[in-house]
Amino acid sequence: NSGLRINNLHVAYQKGQLALGEMNLTLPEHGIYTVIGPSGSGKSTLLRAIAGLLPGYEGELLFNGRSVHDKETLIGLVPQNYGLLPWKTVRDNIRIAMKIARPGGGSSNRQEQDGKILHWLESMGIAQLAGRFPLSLSGGQQQRVAIARAFAILPTILLLDEPFSALDALTREGLQQIFIDNWQAHPATTLFVTHDVEEAILLGQKIIVMLPGQQEPPEILDNSAVFA
Ligand code: ADP
Ligand code: ADP
Repeated sequence: NSGLRINNLHVAYQKGQLALGEMNLTLPEHGIYTVIGPSGSGKSTLLRAIAGLLPGYEGELLFNGRSVHDKETLIGLVPQNYGLLPWKTVRDNIRIAMKIARPGGGSSNRQEQDGKILHWLESMGIAQLAGRFPLSLSGGQQQRVAIARAFAILPTILLLDEPFSALDALTREGLQQIFIDNWQAHPATTLFVTHDVEEAILLGQKIIVMLPGQQEPPEILDNSAVFA
């Protein structure tokens, strides 16, 4: 029962048109699992279903035997377009996410909160951007903020939708390493969508290969030998 369990997941945005069909998966807790496949194969749809952003789906999404949408399961999402609030500073973007994740909980002390926020910004190498507004940042910087925000809520499940796809190769390599370091400090059960086969192999303990149409369940490649 442990880990992320996907039972008979089907998603149709329109009646009779499956965006994602017949998915059955068990992913052990505390792993990074990469999701790869061509455009339109349902990768984002899978993340949206788990994140609770779809009005409906068929099937079950469980974490340690309970619905992923139970309050105990915190889900951190790094969406493709970063999803930052443009009229809030970087610091406040993270503060708001922390508040939503644990309403009234955690440290209500603002100083302590600021310390935690700064810690996650530092871990992403962007402490100096705390007071800036998202739209004054480069794409790569906004991406780092979105990742810091996802880690800052200490998620049970972490979902990333092609977080590095818009970056040049050098920036990407740097961020992959920073991501791995942060993940090791907080090893949430992670689904990482990417277009990049090399990245999928580098980061994923398992690689979930999705195909458009989903006539068959996705193939799962086991990469754990590399991580042993
Ligand atoms: P991927 O992330 O692999 O590119 P998506 O999950 O975005 O795939 O899309 C899977 C299928 O669902 C595609 O056929 C896409 O056109 C369709 N789809 C995605 N989002 C919507 C939506 N909001 N409304 C209708 N169809 C959608
Ligand atoms: P991705 O790159 O993740 O597949 P897309 O660029 O396909 O995302 O889609 C961007 C947005 O458009 C998403 O919010 C998605 O829900 C929506 N979308 C995608 N396909 C369709 C569709 N066929 N009909 C309506 N909305 C769609």
